[in-house]
Amino acid sequence: MNLPLITRAEENNERIAIFTDEGAFTYQDLLHISSQMATRLLNHTEDLQEQRVAFLIPPGFEYVVTQWGIWRAGGIAVPLCISHPRPELEYVITNSGASIIIAHPNFEDILRPLATEQNLRFILTSETLLDHVGHLPEIDITRRALILYTSGTTGKAKGVVTTHQNIQAQVTSLITAWEWTSSDRILHVLPLHHIHGIINVLTCALWAGAECHMLSKFDAEVVWQRICDSDLTLFMAVPTIYVKLIAAWENASKERQKTMSASCAKMRLMVSGSAALPVQVLEKWQKISGHFLLERYGMTEIGMALSNPLHGQRYSGYVGQPLPQVEVRLVDETGEIVPPGSPGEIQVKSPGVFLEYWQNSQATAKAFRDGWFCTGDFAIVENGNYRILGRMSVDIIKTGGYKVSALEIEEVLRTHPDIQECAVVGVADPEWGERVCAALVLRSQCQLTLESFRKWAKEQLAVYKVPTRILIVEELPRNAMGKVTKPTVVEIFRTSSALNYSDSQ
Ligand code: AMP
Repeated sequence: MNLPLITRAEENNERIAIFTDEGAFTYQDLLHISSQMATRLLNHTEDLQEQRVAFLIPPGFEYVVTQWGIWRAGGIAVPLCISHPRPELEYVITNSGASIIIAHPNFEDILRPLATEQNLRFILTSETLLDHVGHLPEIDITRRALILYTSGTTGKAKGVVTTHQNIQAQVTSLITAWEWTSSDRILHVLPLHHIHGIINVLTCALWAGAECHMLSKFDAEVVWQRICDSDLTLFMAVPTIYVKLIAAWENASKERQKTMSASCAKMRLMVSGSAALPVQVLEKWQKISGHFLLERYGMTEIGMALSNPLHGQRYSGYVGQPLPQVEVRLVDETGEIVPPGSPGEIQVKSPGVFLEYWQNSQATAKAFRDGWFCTGDFAIVENGNYRILGRMSVDIIKTGGYKVSALEIEEVLRTHPDIQECAVVGVADPEWGERVCAALVLRSQCQLTLESFRKWAKEQLAVYKVPTRILIVEELPRNAMGKVTKPTVVEIFRTSSALNYSDSQ
């Protein structure tokens, strides 16, 4: 049996699957070239048997061909992030135990040495594929398909493993709820190492037989151009992207604004998620586009869980109700279901919930209670709709839709020769949701500028994890037990522009 995603694509042969700056590619193109890619990966073996294949490719046709090629050869796809510096890439490659690395030539300099050091097979996407297509294995849908790295409350990022079956459940739930069809055309502007871009946009589009229009990188002007030119039906983004699109609209001429707004109005659905959507952003976007954004809530480990309705009343500040196939409950700290109208932790059960954290059975076991996945997010149900109240841990920060771990950043910052102690917090911000901010205690006689600090940090950490504000302090606020009191650190950032406070971006 072929994977359902592949069987469905065969029914859509002639239709356009991917549209990029290089042109339009049909489902037939995608099927043919991904089978050539699978043949290359197999290299005369029968089945990759869940070998991990890490790949670093900018958004575009080659990315999709590679992801499908890995799946069709029986491998587990491990997408790497194009903005990650070497230490982050190395961590994912090593942690996942990848045996093959596939890279776009732009990333050869960074990845080939890594592959050589670790004795891994290295493939460039520019190498010509063989015309010959070999026999491809049958893949059972219960097999592992994807590992996405996500930050947690402890230490380094964990690999979230989903099976083909999990992905199928995540995708079909959204297709039903948001009524995807093969007539849809979506503009893809999201990162392709994160669930939002991979599942909600790319895989839903391809499952539905729709067109996925991909941009090689996010640029607000280009996005508006595409919205005006492409007759799109769907758009999905994180709140930070809507903020940037609003700013670009405000900078446009009156005449242009009219065209931009009219083009949005022609779409059938615009979605926001991955972080809380501020009410002001929702309202401004409604004025500009005529769309009351559909906000949804989800997580790498569970796919999407809650969504405002496609038809019917949407409420600002609320994320609606459980999606098809998803069960949600709210529990208190003792594990009891809370009475109606009381806040509790969101727990989720569904066929879309991930299989395991990669080679971390302890973390996997800790994440579940009686078969329910514990999200670590608080919510309350009011008039039948869920409202997200926040996260249980102050050490998880959501910035621009990315989930980052304060502890992981602190660990890296402590390796700076001038930093003696540090505390990283998320501070509320209208554009980024939260900004990553670091309070630093320097070693005696040391000085640090924001610029030199960021330059150093960008070599160790993904750019979205690098603090955009720093505060040099004599000492960190601590409680009687000596533990840093993070809420106080947040408060200092909120109130103390007079202190040694810097801002960038
Ligand atoms: P990720 O796994 O990177 O998608 O991050 C998942 C986390 O993002 C969730 O656990 C929430 O804390 C947050 N999140 C996702 N969607 C929303 C939303 N609509 N409102 C508030 N927080 C959200």
